[in-house]
Amino acid sequence: MTQVLVVNSGSSSIKYRLLDLPSGHAVAKGAVERIGESEGLLTHRGPAGEVERREPVADHAAGMRAMLAAFAEAGPDLAAVHLAAVGHRVVHGGERFTAPTLVTDEVCEVIASLSDLAPLHNPANLKGIQVAREVFPDVPHVAVFDTAFHATLPPHAHTYAVPREWRAEYGVRRYGFHGTSHAYVSRMSARLLDCGPADVNVIVLHLGNGASVSAVRGGVCVETSMGLTPLEGLVMGTRSGDVDPGVIFHLRRAAGLTVDDLDDALNRRSGLLGLSGVNDMRELIKLIDNGDEDARLALDVYCHRVRKYVGAYMAVLGHTDAVVFTAGVGENNARVREHALTGLGDLGVRLDHDRNERGGPVISAPGSPVTVLVVPTDEELEIATQALALVS
Ligand code: ADP
Repeated sequence: MTQVLVVNSGSSSIKYRLLDLPSGHAVAKGAVERIGESEGLLTHRGPAGEVERREPVADHAAGMRAMLAAFAEAGPDLAAVHLAAVGHRVVHGGERFTAPTLVTDEVCEVIASLSDLAPLHNPANLKGIQVAREVFPDVPHVAVFDTAFHATLPPHAHTYAVPREWRAEYGVRRYGFHGTSHAYVSRMSARLLDCGPADVNVIVLHLGNGASVSAVRGGVCVETSMGLTPLEGLVMGTRSGDVDPGVIFHLRRAAGLTVDDLDDALNRRSGLLGLSGVNDMRELIKLIDNGDEDARLALDVYCHRVRKYVGAYMAVLGHTDAVVFTAGVGENNARVREHALTGLGDLGVRLDHDRNERGGPVISAPGSPVTVLVVPTDEELEIATQALALVS
């Protein structure tokens, strides 16, 4: 049995999963949350049962020790498991990391140096890597980057039309995110279409709390909606997605807002939350069903943005075999899927109402020139698969 531990270390949490490959079976999974707060929360499910514990977790090193204790309690015993690799999610790989990478001291330094581009994520990802390397010194550690799948964007897609020195000196370009999800879902979609990845063109709509869309031609990503940061593109739970950068200058001048105020507002107080007061799609739908007009507008803006990107990416691809929904909203919300694709019949995208309500995987009408799919994403499995492929 080959097992890979996947670690997703955030600023206040460590989420983990132990996967058996190639079956993809999750042998154990859990999370240490609220690290650094007065009361931390550990949840773990293993072959010998479940653990839930509330106690202070001072830092990531303490979080990793809590994870090891949970493994000892509810299994499996990590000392007895032969770990083939530890796979780490890292948000920003910049221009340097375009593929899964074996972690060394030098790799850690470069990940740290990319923190300017992802100040909320890369330092937290790196902390997880550092404590895991101490705990598992004899196991290869592999960094898998959210940006890597988008490294194939052609220059005309990743270049912003801005002054040369911004691009040359400050790394200003489009990178794209959610890459492990787009990679996994586009490959699974090809399989559902009975084709190899090289033989199909797909548009993947990753609609979760964060949301992004990518155009994948023959297995190669050629366009994606997130840019230098995960702020660009679709409307998200709390992020605005596309806005005219002029909005920022206007608010600097007219309202005296600081750069930090604007950063916070566009990343954490906009999107569905800014429009309706809630960021969770389930709550938004409840508000709409109770007649809330702001919530209705929020859904209309959200779905209009999705439809606009689908049309644009069909133009980018020239020929589109499938439009694919994934992540929390994409996998579970038939209403959003139907609303977003309404009116695209003449472009060959014809949804089947009943199939859509049943949830797929195929939700387009028989004979629809473009197949519409629902494909559950699995970023942990993709990280484990990529990590294992690198070390074997
Ligand atoms: P994250 O980006 O945090 O991984 P998820 O992919 O879990 O996010 O997506 C979270 C979003 O999915 C939330 O807006 C949530 O309301 C929505 N969601 C999850 N399950 C359902 C469901 N059964 N029906 C409708 N929306 C759902």
